[in-house]
Amino acid sequence: MLAAAERRPRDPQGEEGNVAKEFMNFFLFLCRLLCGALIRCPFFVSQKLRCVCPPSYQKTLKLPRQNFRRRERIQKMLHTFCARAANRTVVVGKNVSSSSGGGRTTSRSTTTSSSSAVWVRARQRRISPSSWSSKKGSTLRRFSTAAARTSTTSNNGDEESETRKQSSHKIAPTILQNRLVRPERIAVQRNFSSSNAAAAGASPSPPPTNAAEDKNEQTTQTLMLHNTMSRKKEIFKPRAENGNKVQMYVCGVTVYDYSHIGHARVYVAFDVLYRTLRQLGYDVTYCRNFTDIDDKIINRANESGTSCEELTEKFIQAFHEDMEALGCLRPDLEPRATQHVGDIIDLITRLIEKNHAYAVDGDVYFSVDSLSKYGSLSGRNQEDNRAGERVVVDGRKKNPADFALWKTAKPNEPVWESPWGNGRPGWHIECSAMIEKLLGPVIDIHGGGQDLVFPHHENELAQSSAACDCEIHKSEDKKFVRYWVHNGFVKVDSEKMSKSLGNFFTIREVLARYHPMVLRFMLLGAHYRAPINYTQKALEESSDRLYYIYQTLLDARAALELKDEEFRAELENSKLKLSPLAADAKKLAEETKVSVAQALYDDLNTPLAIASLSGPLKTTNDFLTTKAGKKAVGRLSALSSLVSELENTLSILGLPTAVDKSTSILAELKALALKRAGLEEKDLEALMAQRANARAAKNFEESDRLREELASKGIGLMDGGGGDDAWRPIVPAEM
Ligand SMILES: [Zn+2]
Repeated sequence: MLAAAERRPRDPQGEEGNVAKEFMNFFLFLCRLLCGALIRCPFFVSQKLRCVCPPSYQKTLKLPRQNFRRRERIQKMLHTFCARAANRTVVVGKNVSSSSGGGRTTSRSTTTSSSSAVWVRARQRRISPSSWSSKKGSTLRRFSTAAARTSTTSNNGDEESETRKQSSHKIAPTILQNRLVRPERIAVQRNFSSSNAAAAGASPSPPPTNAAEDKNEQTTQTLMLHNTMSRKKEIFKPRAENGNKVQMYVCGVTVYDYSHIGHARVYVAFDVLYRTLRQLGYDVTYCRNFTDIDDKIINRANESGTSCEELTEKFIQAFHEDMEALGCLRPDLEPRATQHVGDIIDLITRLIEKNHAYAVDGDVYFSVDSLSKYGSLSGRNQEDNRAGERVVVDGRKKNPADFALWKTAKPNEPVWESPWGNGRPGWHIECSAMIEKLLGPVIDIHGGGQDLVFPHHENELAQSSAACDCEIHKSEDKKFVRYWVHNGFVKVDSEKMSKSLGNFFTIREVLARYHPMVLRFMLLGAHYRAPINYTQKALEESSDRLYYIYQTLLDARAALELKDEEFRAELENSKLKLSPLAADAKKLAEETKVSVAQALYDDLNTPLAIASLSGPLKTTNDFLTTKAGKKAVGRLSALSSLVSELENTLSILGLPTAVDKSTSILAELKALALKRAGLEEKDLEALMAQRANARAAKNFEESDRLREELASKGIGLMDGGGGDDAWRPIVPAEM
């Protein structure tokens, strides 16, 4: 340490004064180090160390080398605390200011504030290879912040600001710095949260709703869904006459190319909705169409010299492969437009009979002026309406906003006979016809991406409501669609994703570098209605977090398997008194079940559901690695409850939980990390052997250099581990 002090750069001005000042600082630092050691609190030492010491000390300070993991962890914590201290804008949730237990406002608070005992144990915890991660601090921070922001934004805004005011009055920022505040307990952090979320690549909180929400009526078994039509969250209720039957239609892809990450987002979001509805006991009929006749398909087929059938068949197959990889359940019905041309012609005929459509030279247009409520879904006025992007505006239309229902035949196009001559259907009409044919004139949920609200869904609504006699705008239960659900956009590096900008990624391109579950996990890390920013860093962080989750799960299962008999004896012993640690863990598992359900039932708040896993994951690792955890009476029973809850949550989020699948995911995550690092297994082994030699020769400089070189490529070495545990994928250091 003294050698470090001697190496510090000399200040040419006022050197004597500076020496005295630095000596005093060093003395203060030693005092604090001693105090910190006495109370066995690394945070106390670390926090003060970084805030008080001159940069030269910070740079050269090193804990003993054999304590490498502890040092890594402390450095991460230092960073967290210093960032917070620098901002001085920390506001603490109710559970901190009233740590006796009252005022737990959110499920997140409930999970992370189970007891002060857990916090004390956390300090004593030894980091195991499975739980260690060089980026764990930042990842946890991201998810905690996401959860905090989500939970606060989902509440009433006035209530939130009131909470902030009360909290900041109770605990001044300066006092906060000297208190032991667990990172997860920081409920809201202004400034920091926005920049961090931007860096993390996701905007996990749902966008605010304009109207008042029916929040008070929500229970754990009630699903709230944001309805685009009403612009507010509503309690989801199936139609009384339908019992528990629910019909959900989601607009599918136009099959002329491989699907991109925007498609992945739509279908992952609605897959979670499908799973959640089924979890709630609804008998869901999920229908997702394929648009297999369209200008783009015809052009692409002509360019490539294939038929439209061959082209669409190829990309339908590819779409199924992509969805399967992403863990999306297959819908119950997957109609294709070309299979329903008869139904489309029938629907158009009825629209013409009712004067909602007119035929001109073999084309048929829908007359938007015939429907006074046209524009109600998108909120557009008639004056604002323009023709849909797929419709060429021409003078034959009564109103430029009129859209094509039927298009007359052009050369080299597939055609069908119709009362208006040979031709093919327009885009919007196919969904109206297929919904009516397969699900009926009224459906419960209609979903799709936000870009479909206008013109596609607006036009679907116009066609279907004009064609049927269900008086859609008058009767609540006879609307064409009872809940319109739309997901937010995907941006790439904060820019709109488009082929012309060169930032367009197909699902296949992403899956060549990242595990499909990493992409799914990243997409679920943001609320489905919020825009999501796709970045490589966000994928790396998701990969890191997913590895941590699956490794923890695997370690816990291994512990349960090894102690199978002991576990059974524990369960059969009715007189067994659980240790406080085990009792807390069992309670935590129960709380997690509730908080995950609450998050998902509140308009599918997947980021909050994911954040709810932090507590159980940490506690599971405590049982596996800490002395107190290993000795706790009822440990296996508690571990079993935690594992079961982790599995349940992963399952509803569509992440695999089978043992063999978990093992293969870990292996695949490692293989892909090596691929991204541009290394072969043998290269890594050679580098690790080189480092082992350097360590044996006490050449720590070389050993550190090799470790840092690998860390910059996303390979995190774990000293003390052997075999498969010798390294794990991490977020590359330069990101
Ligand atoms: Zn559609």
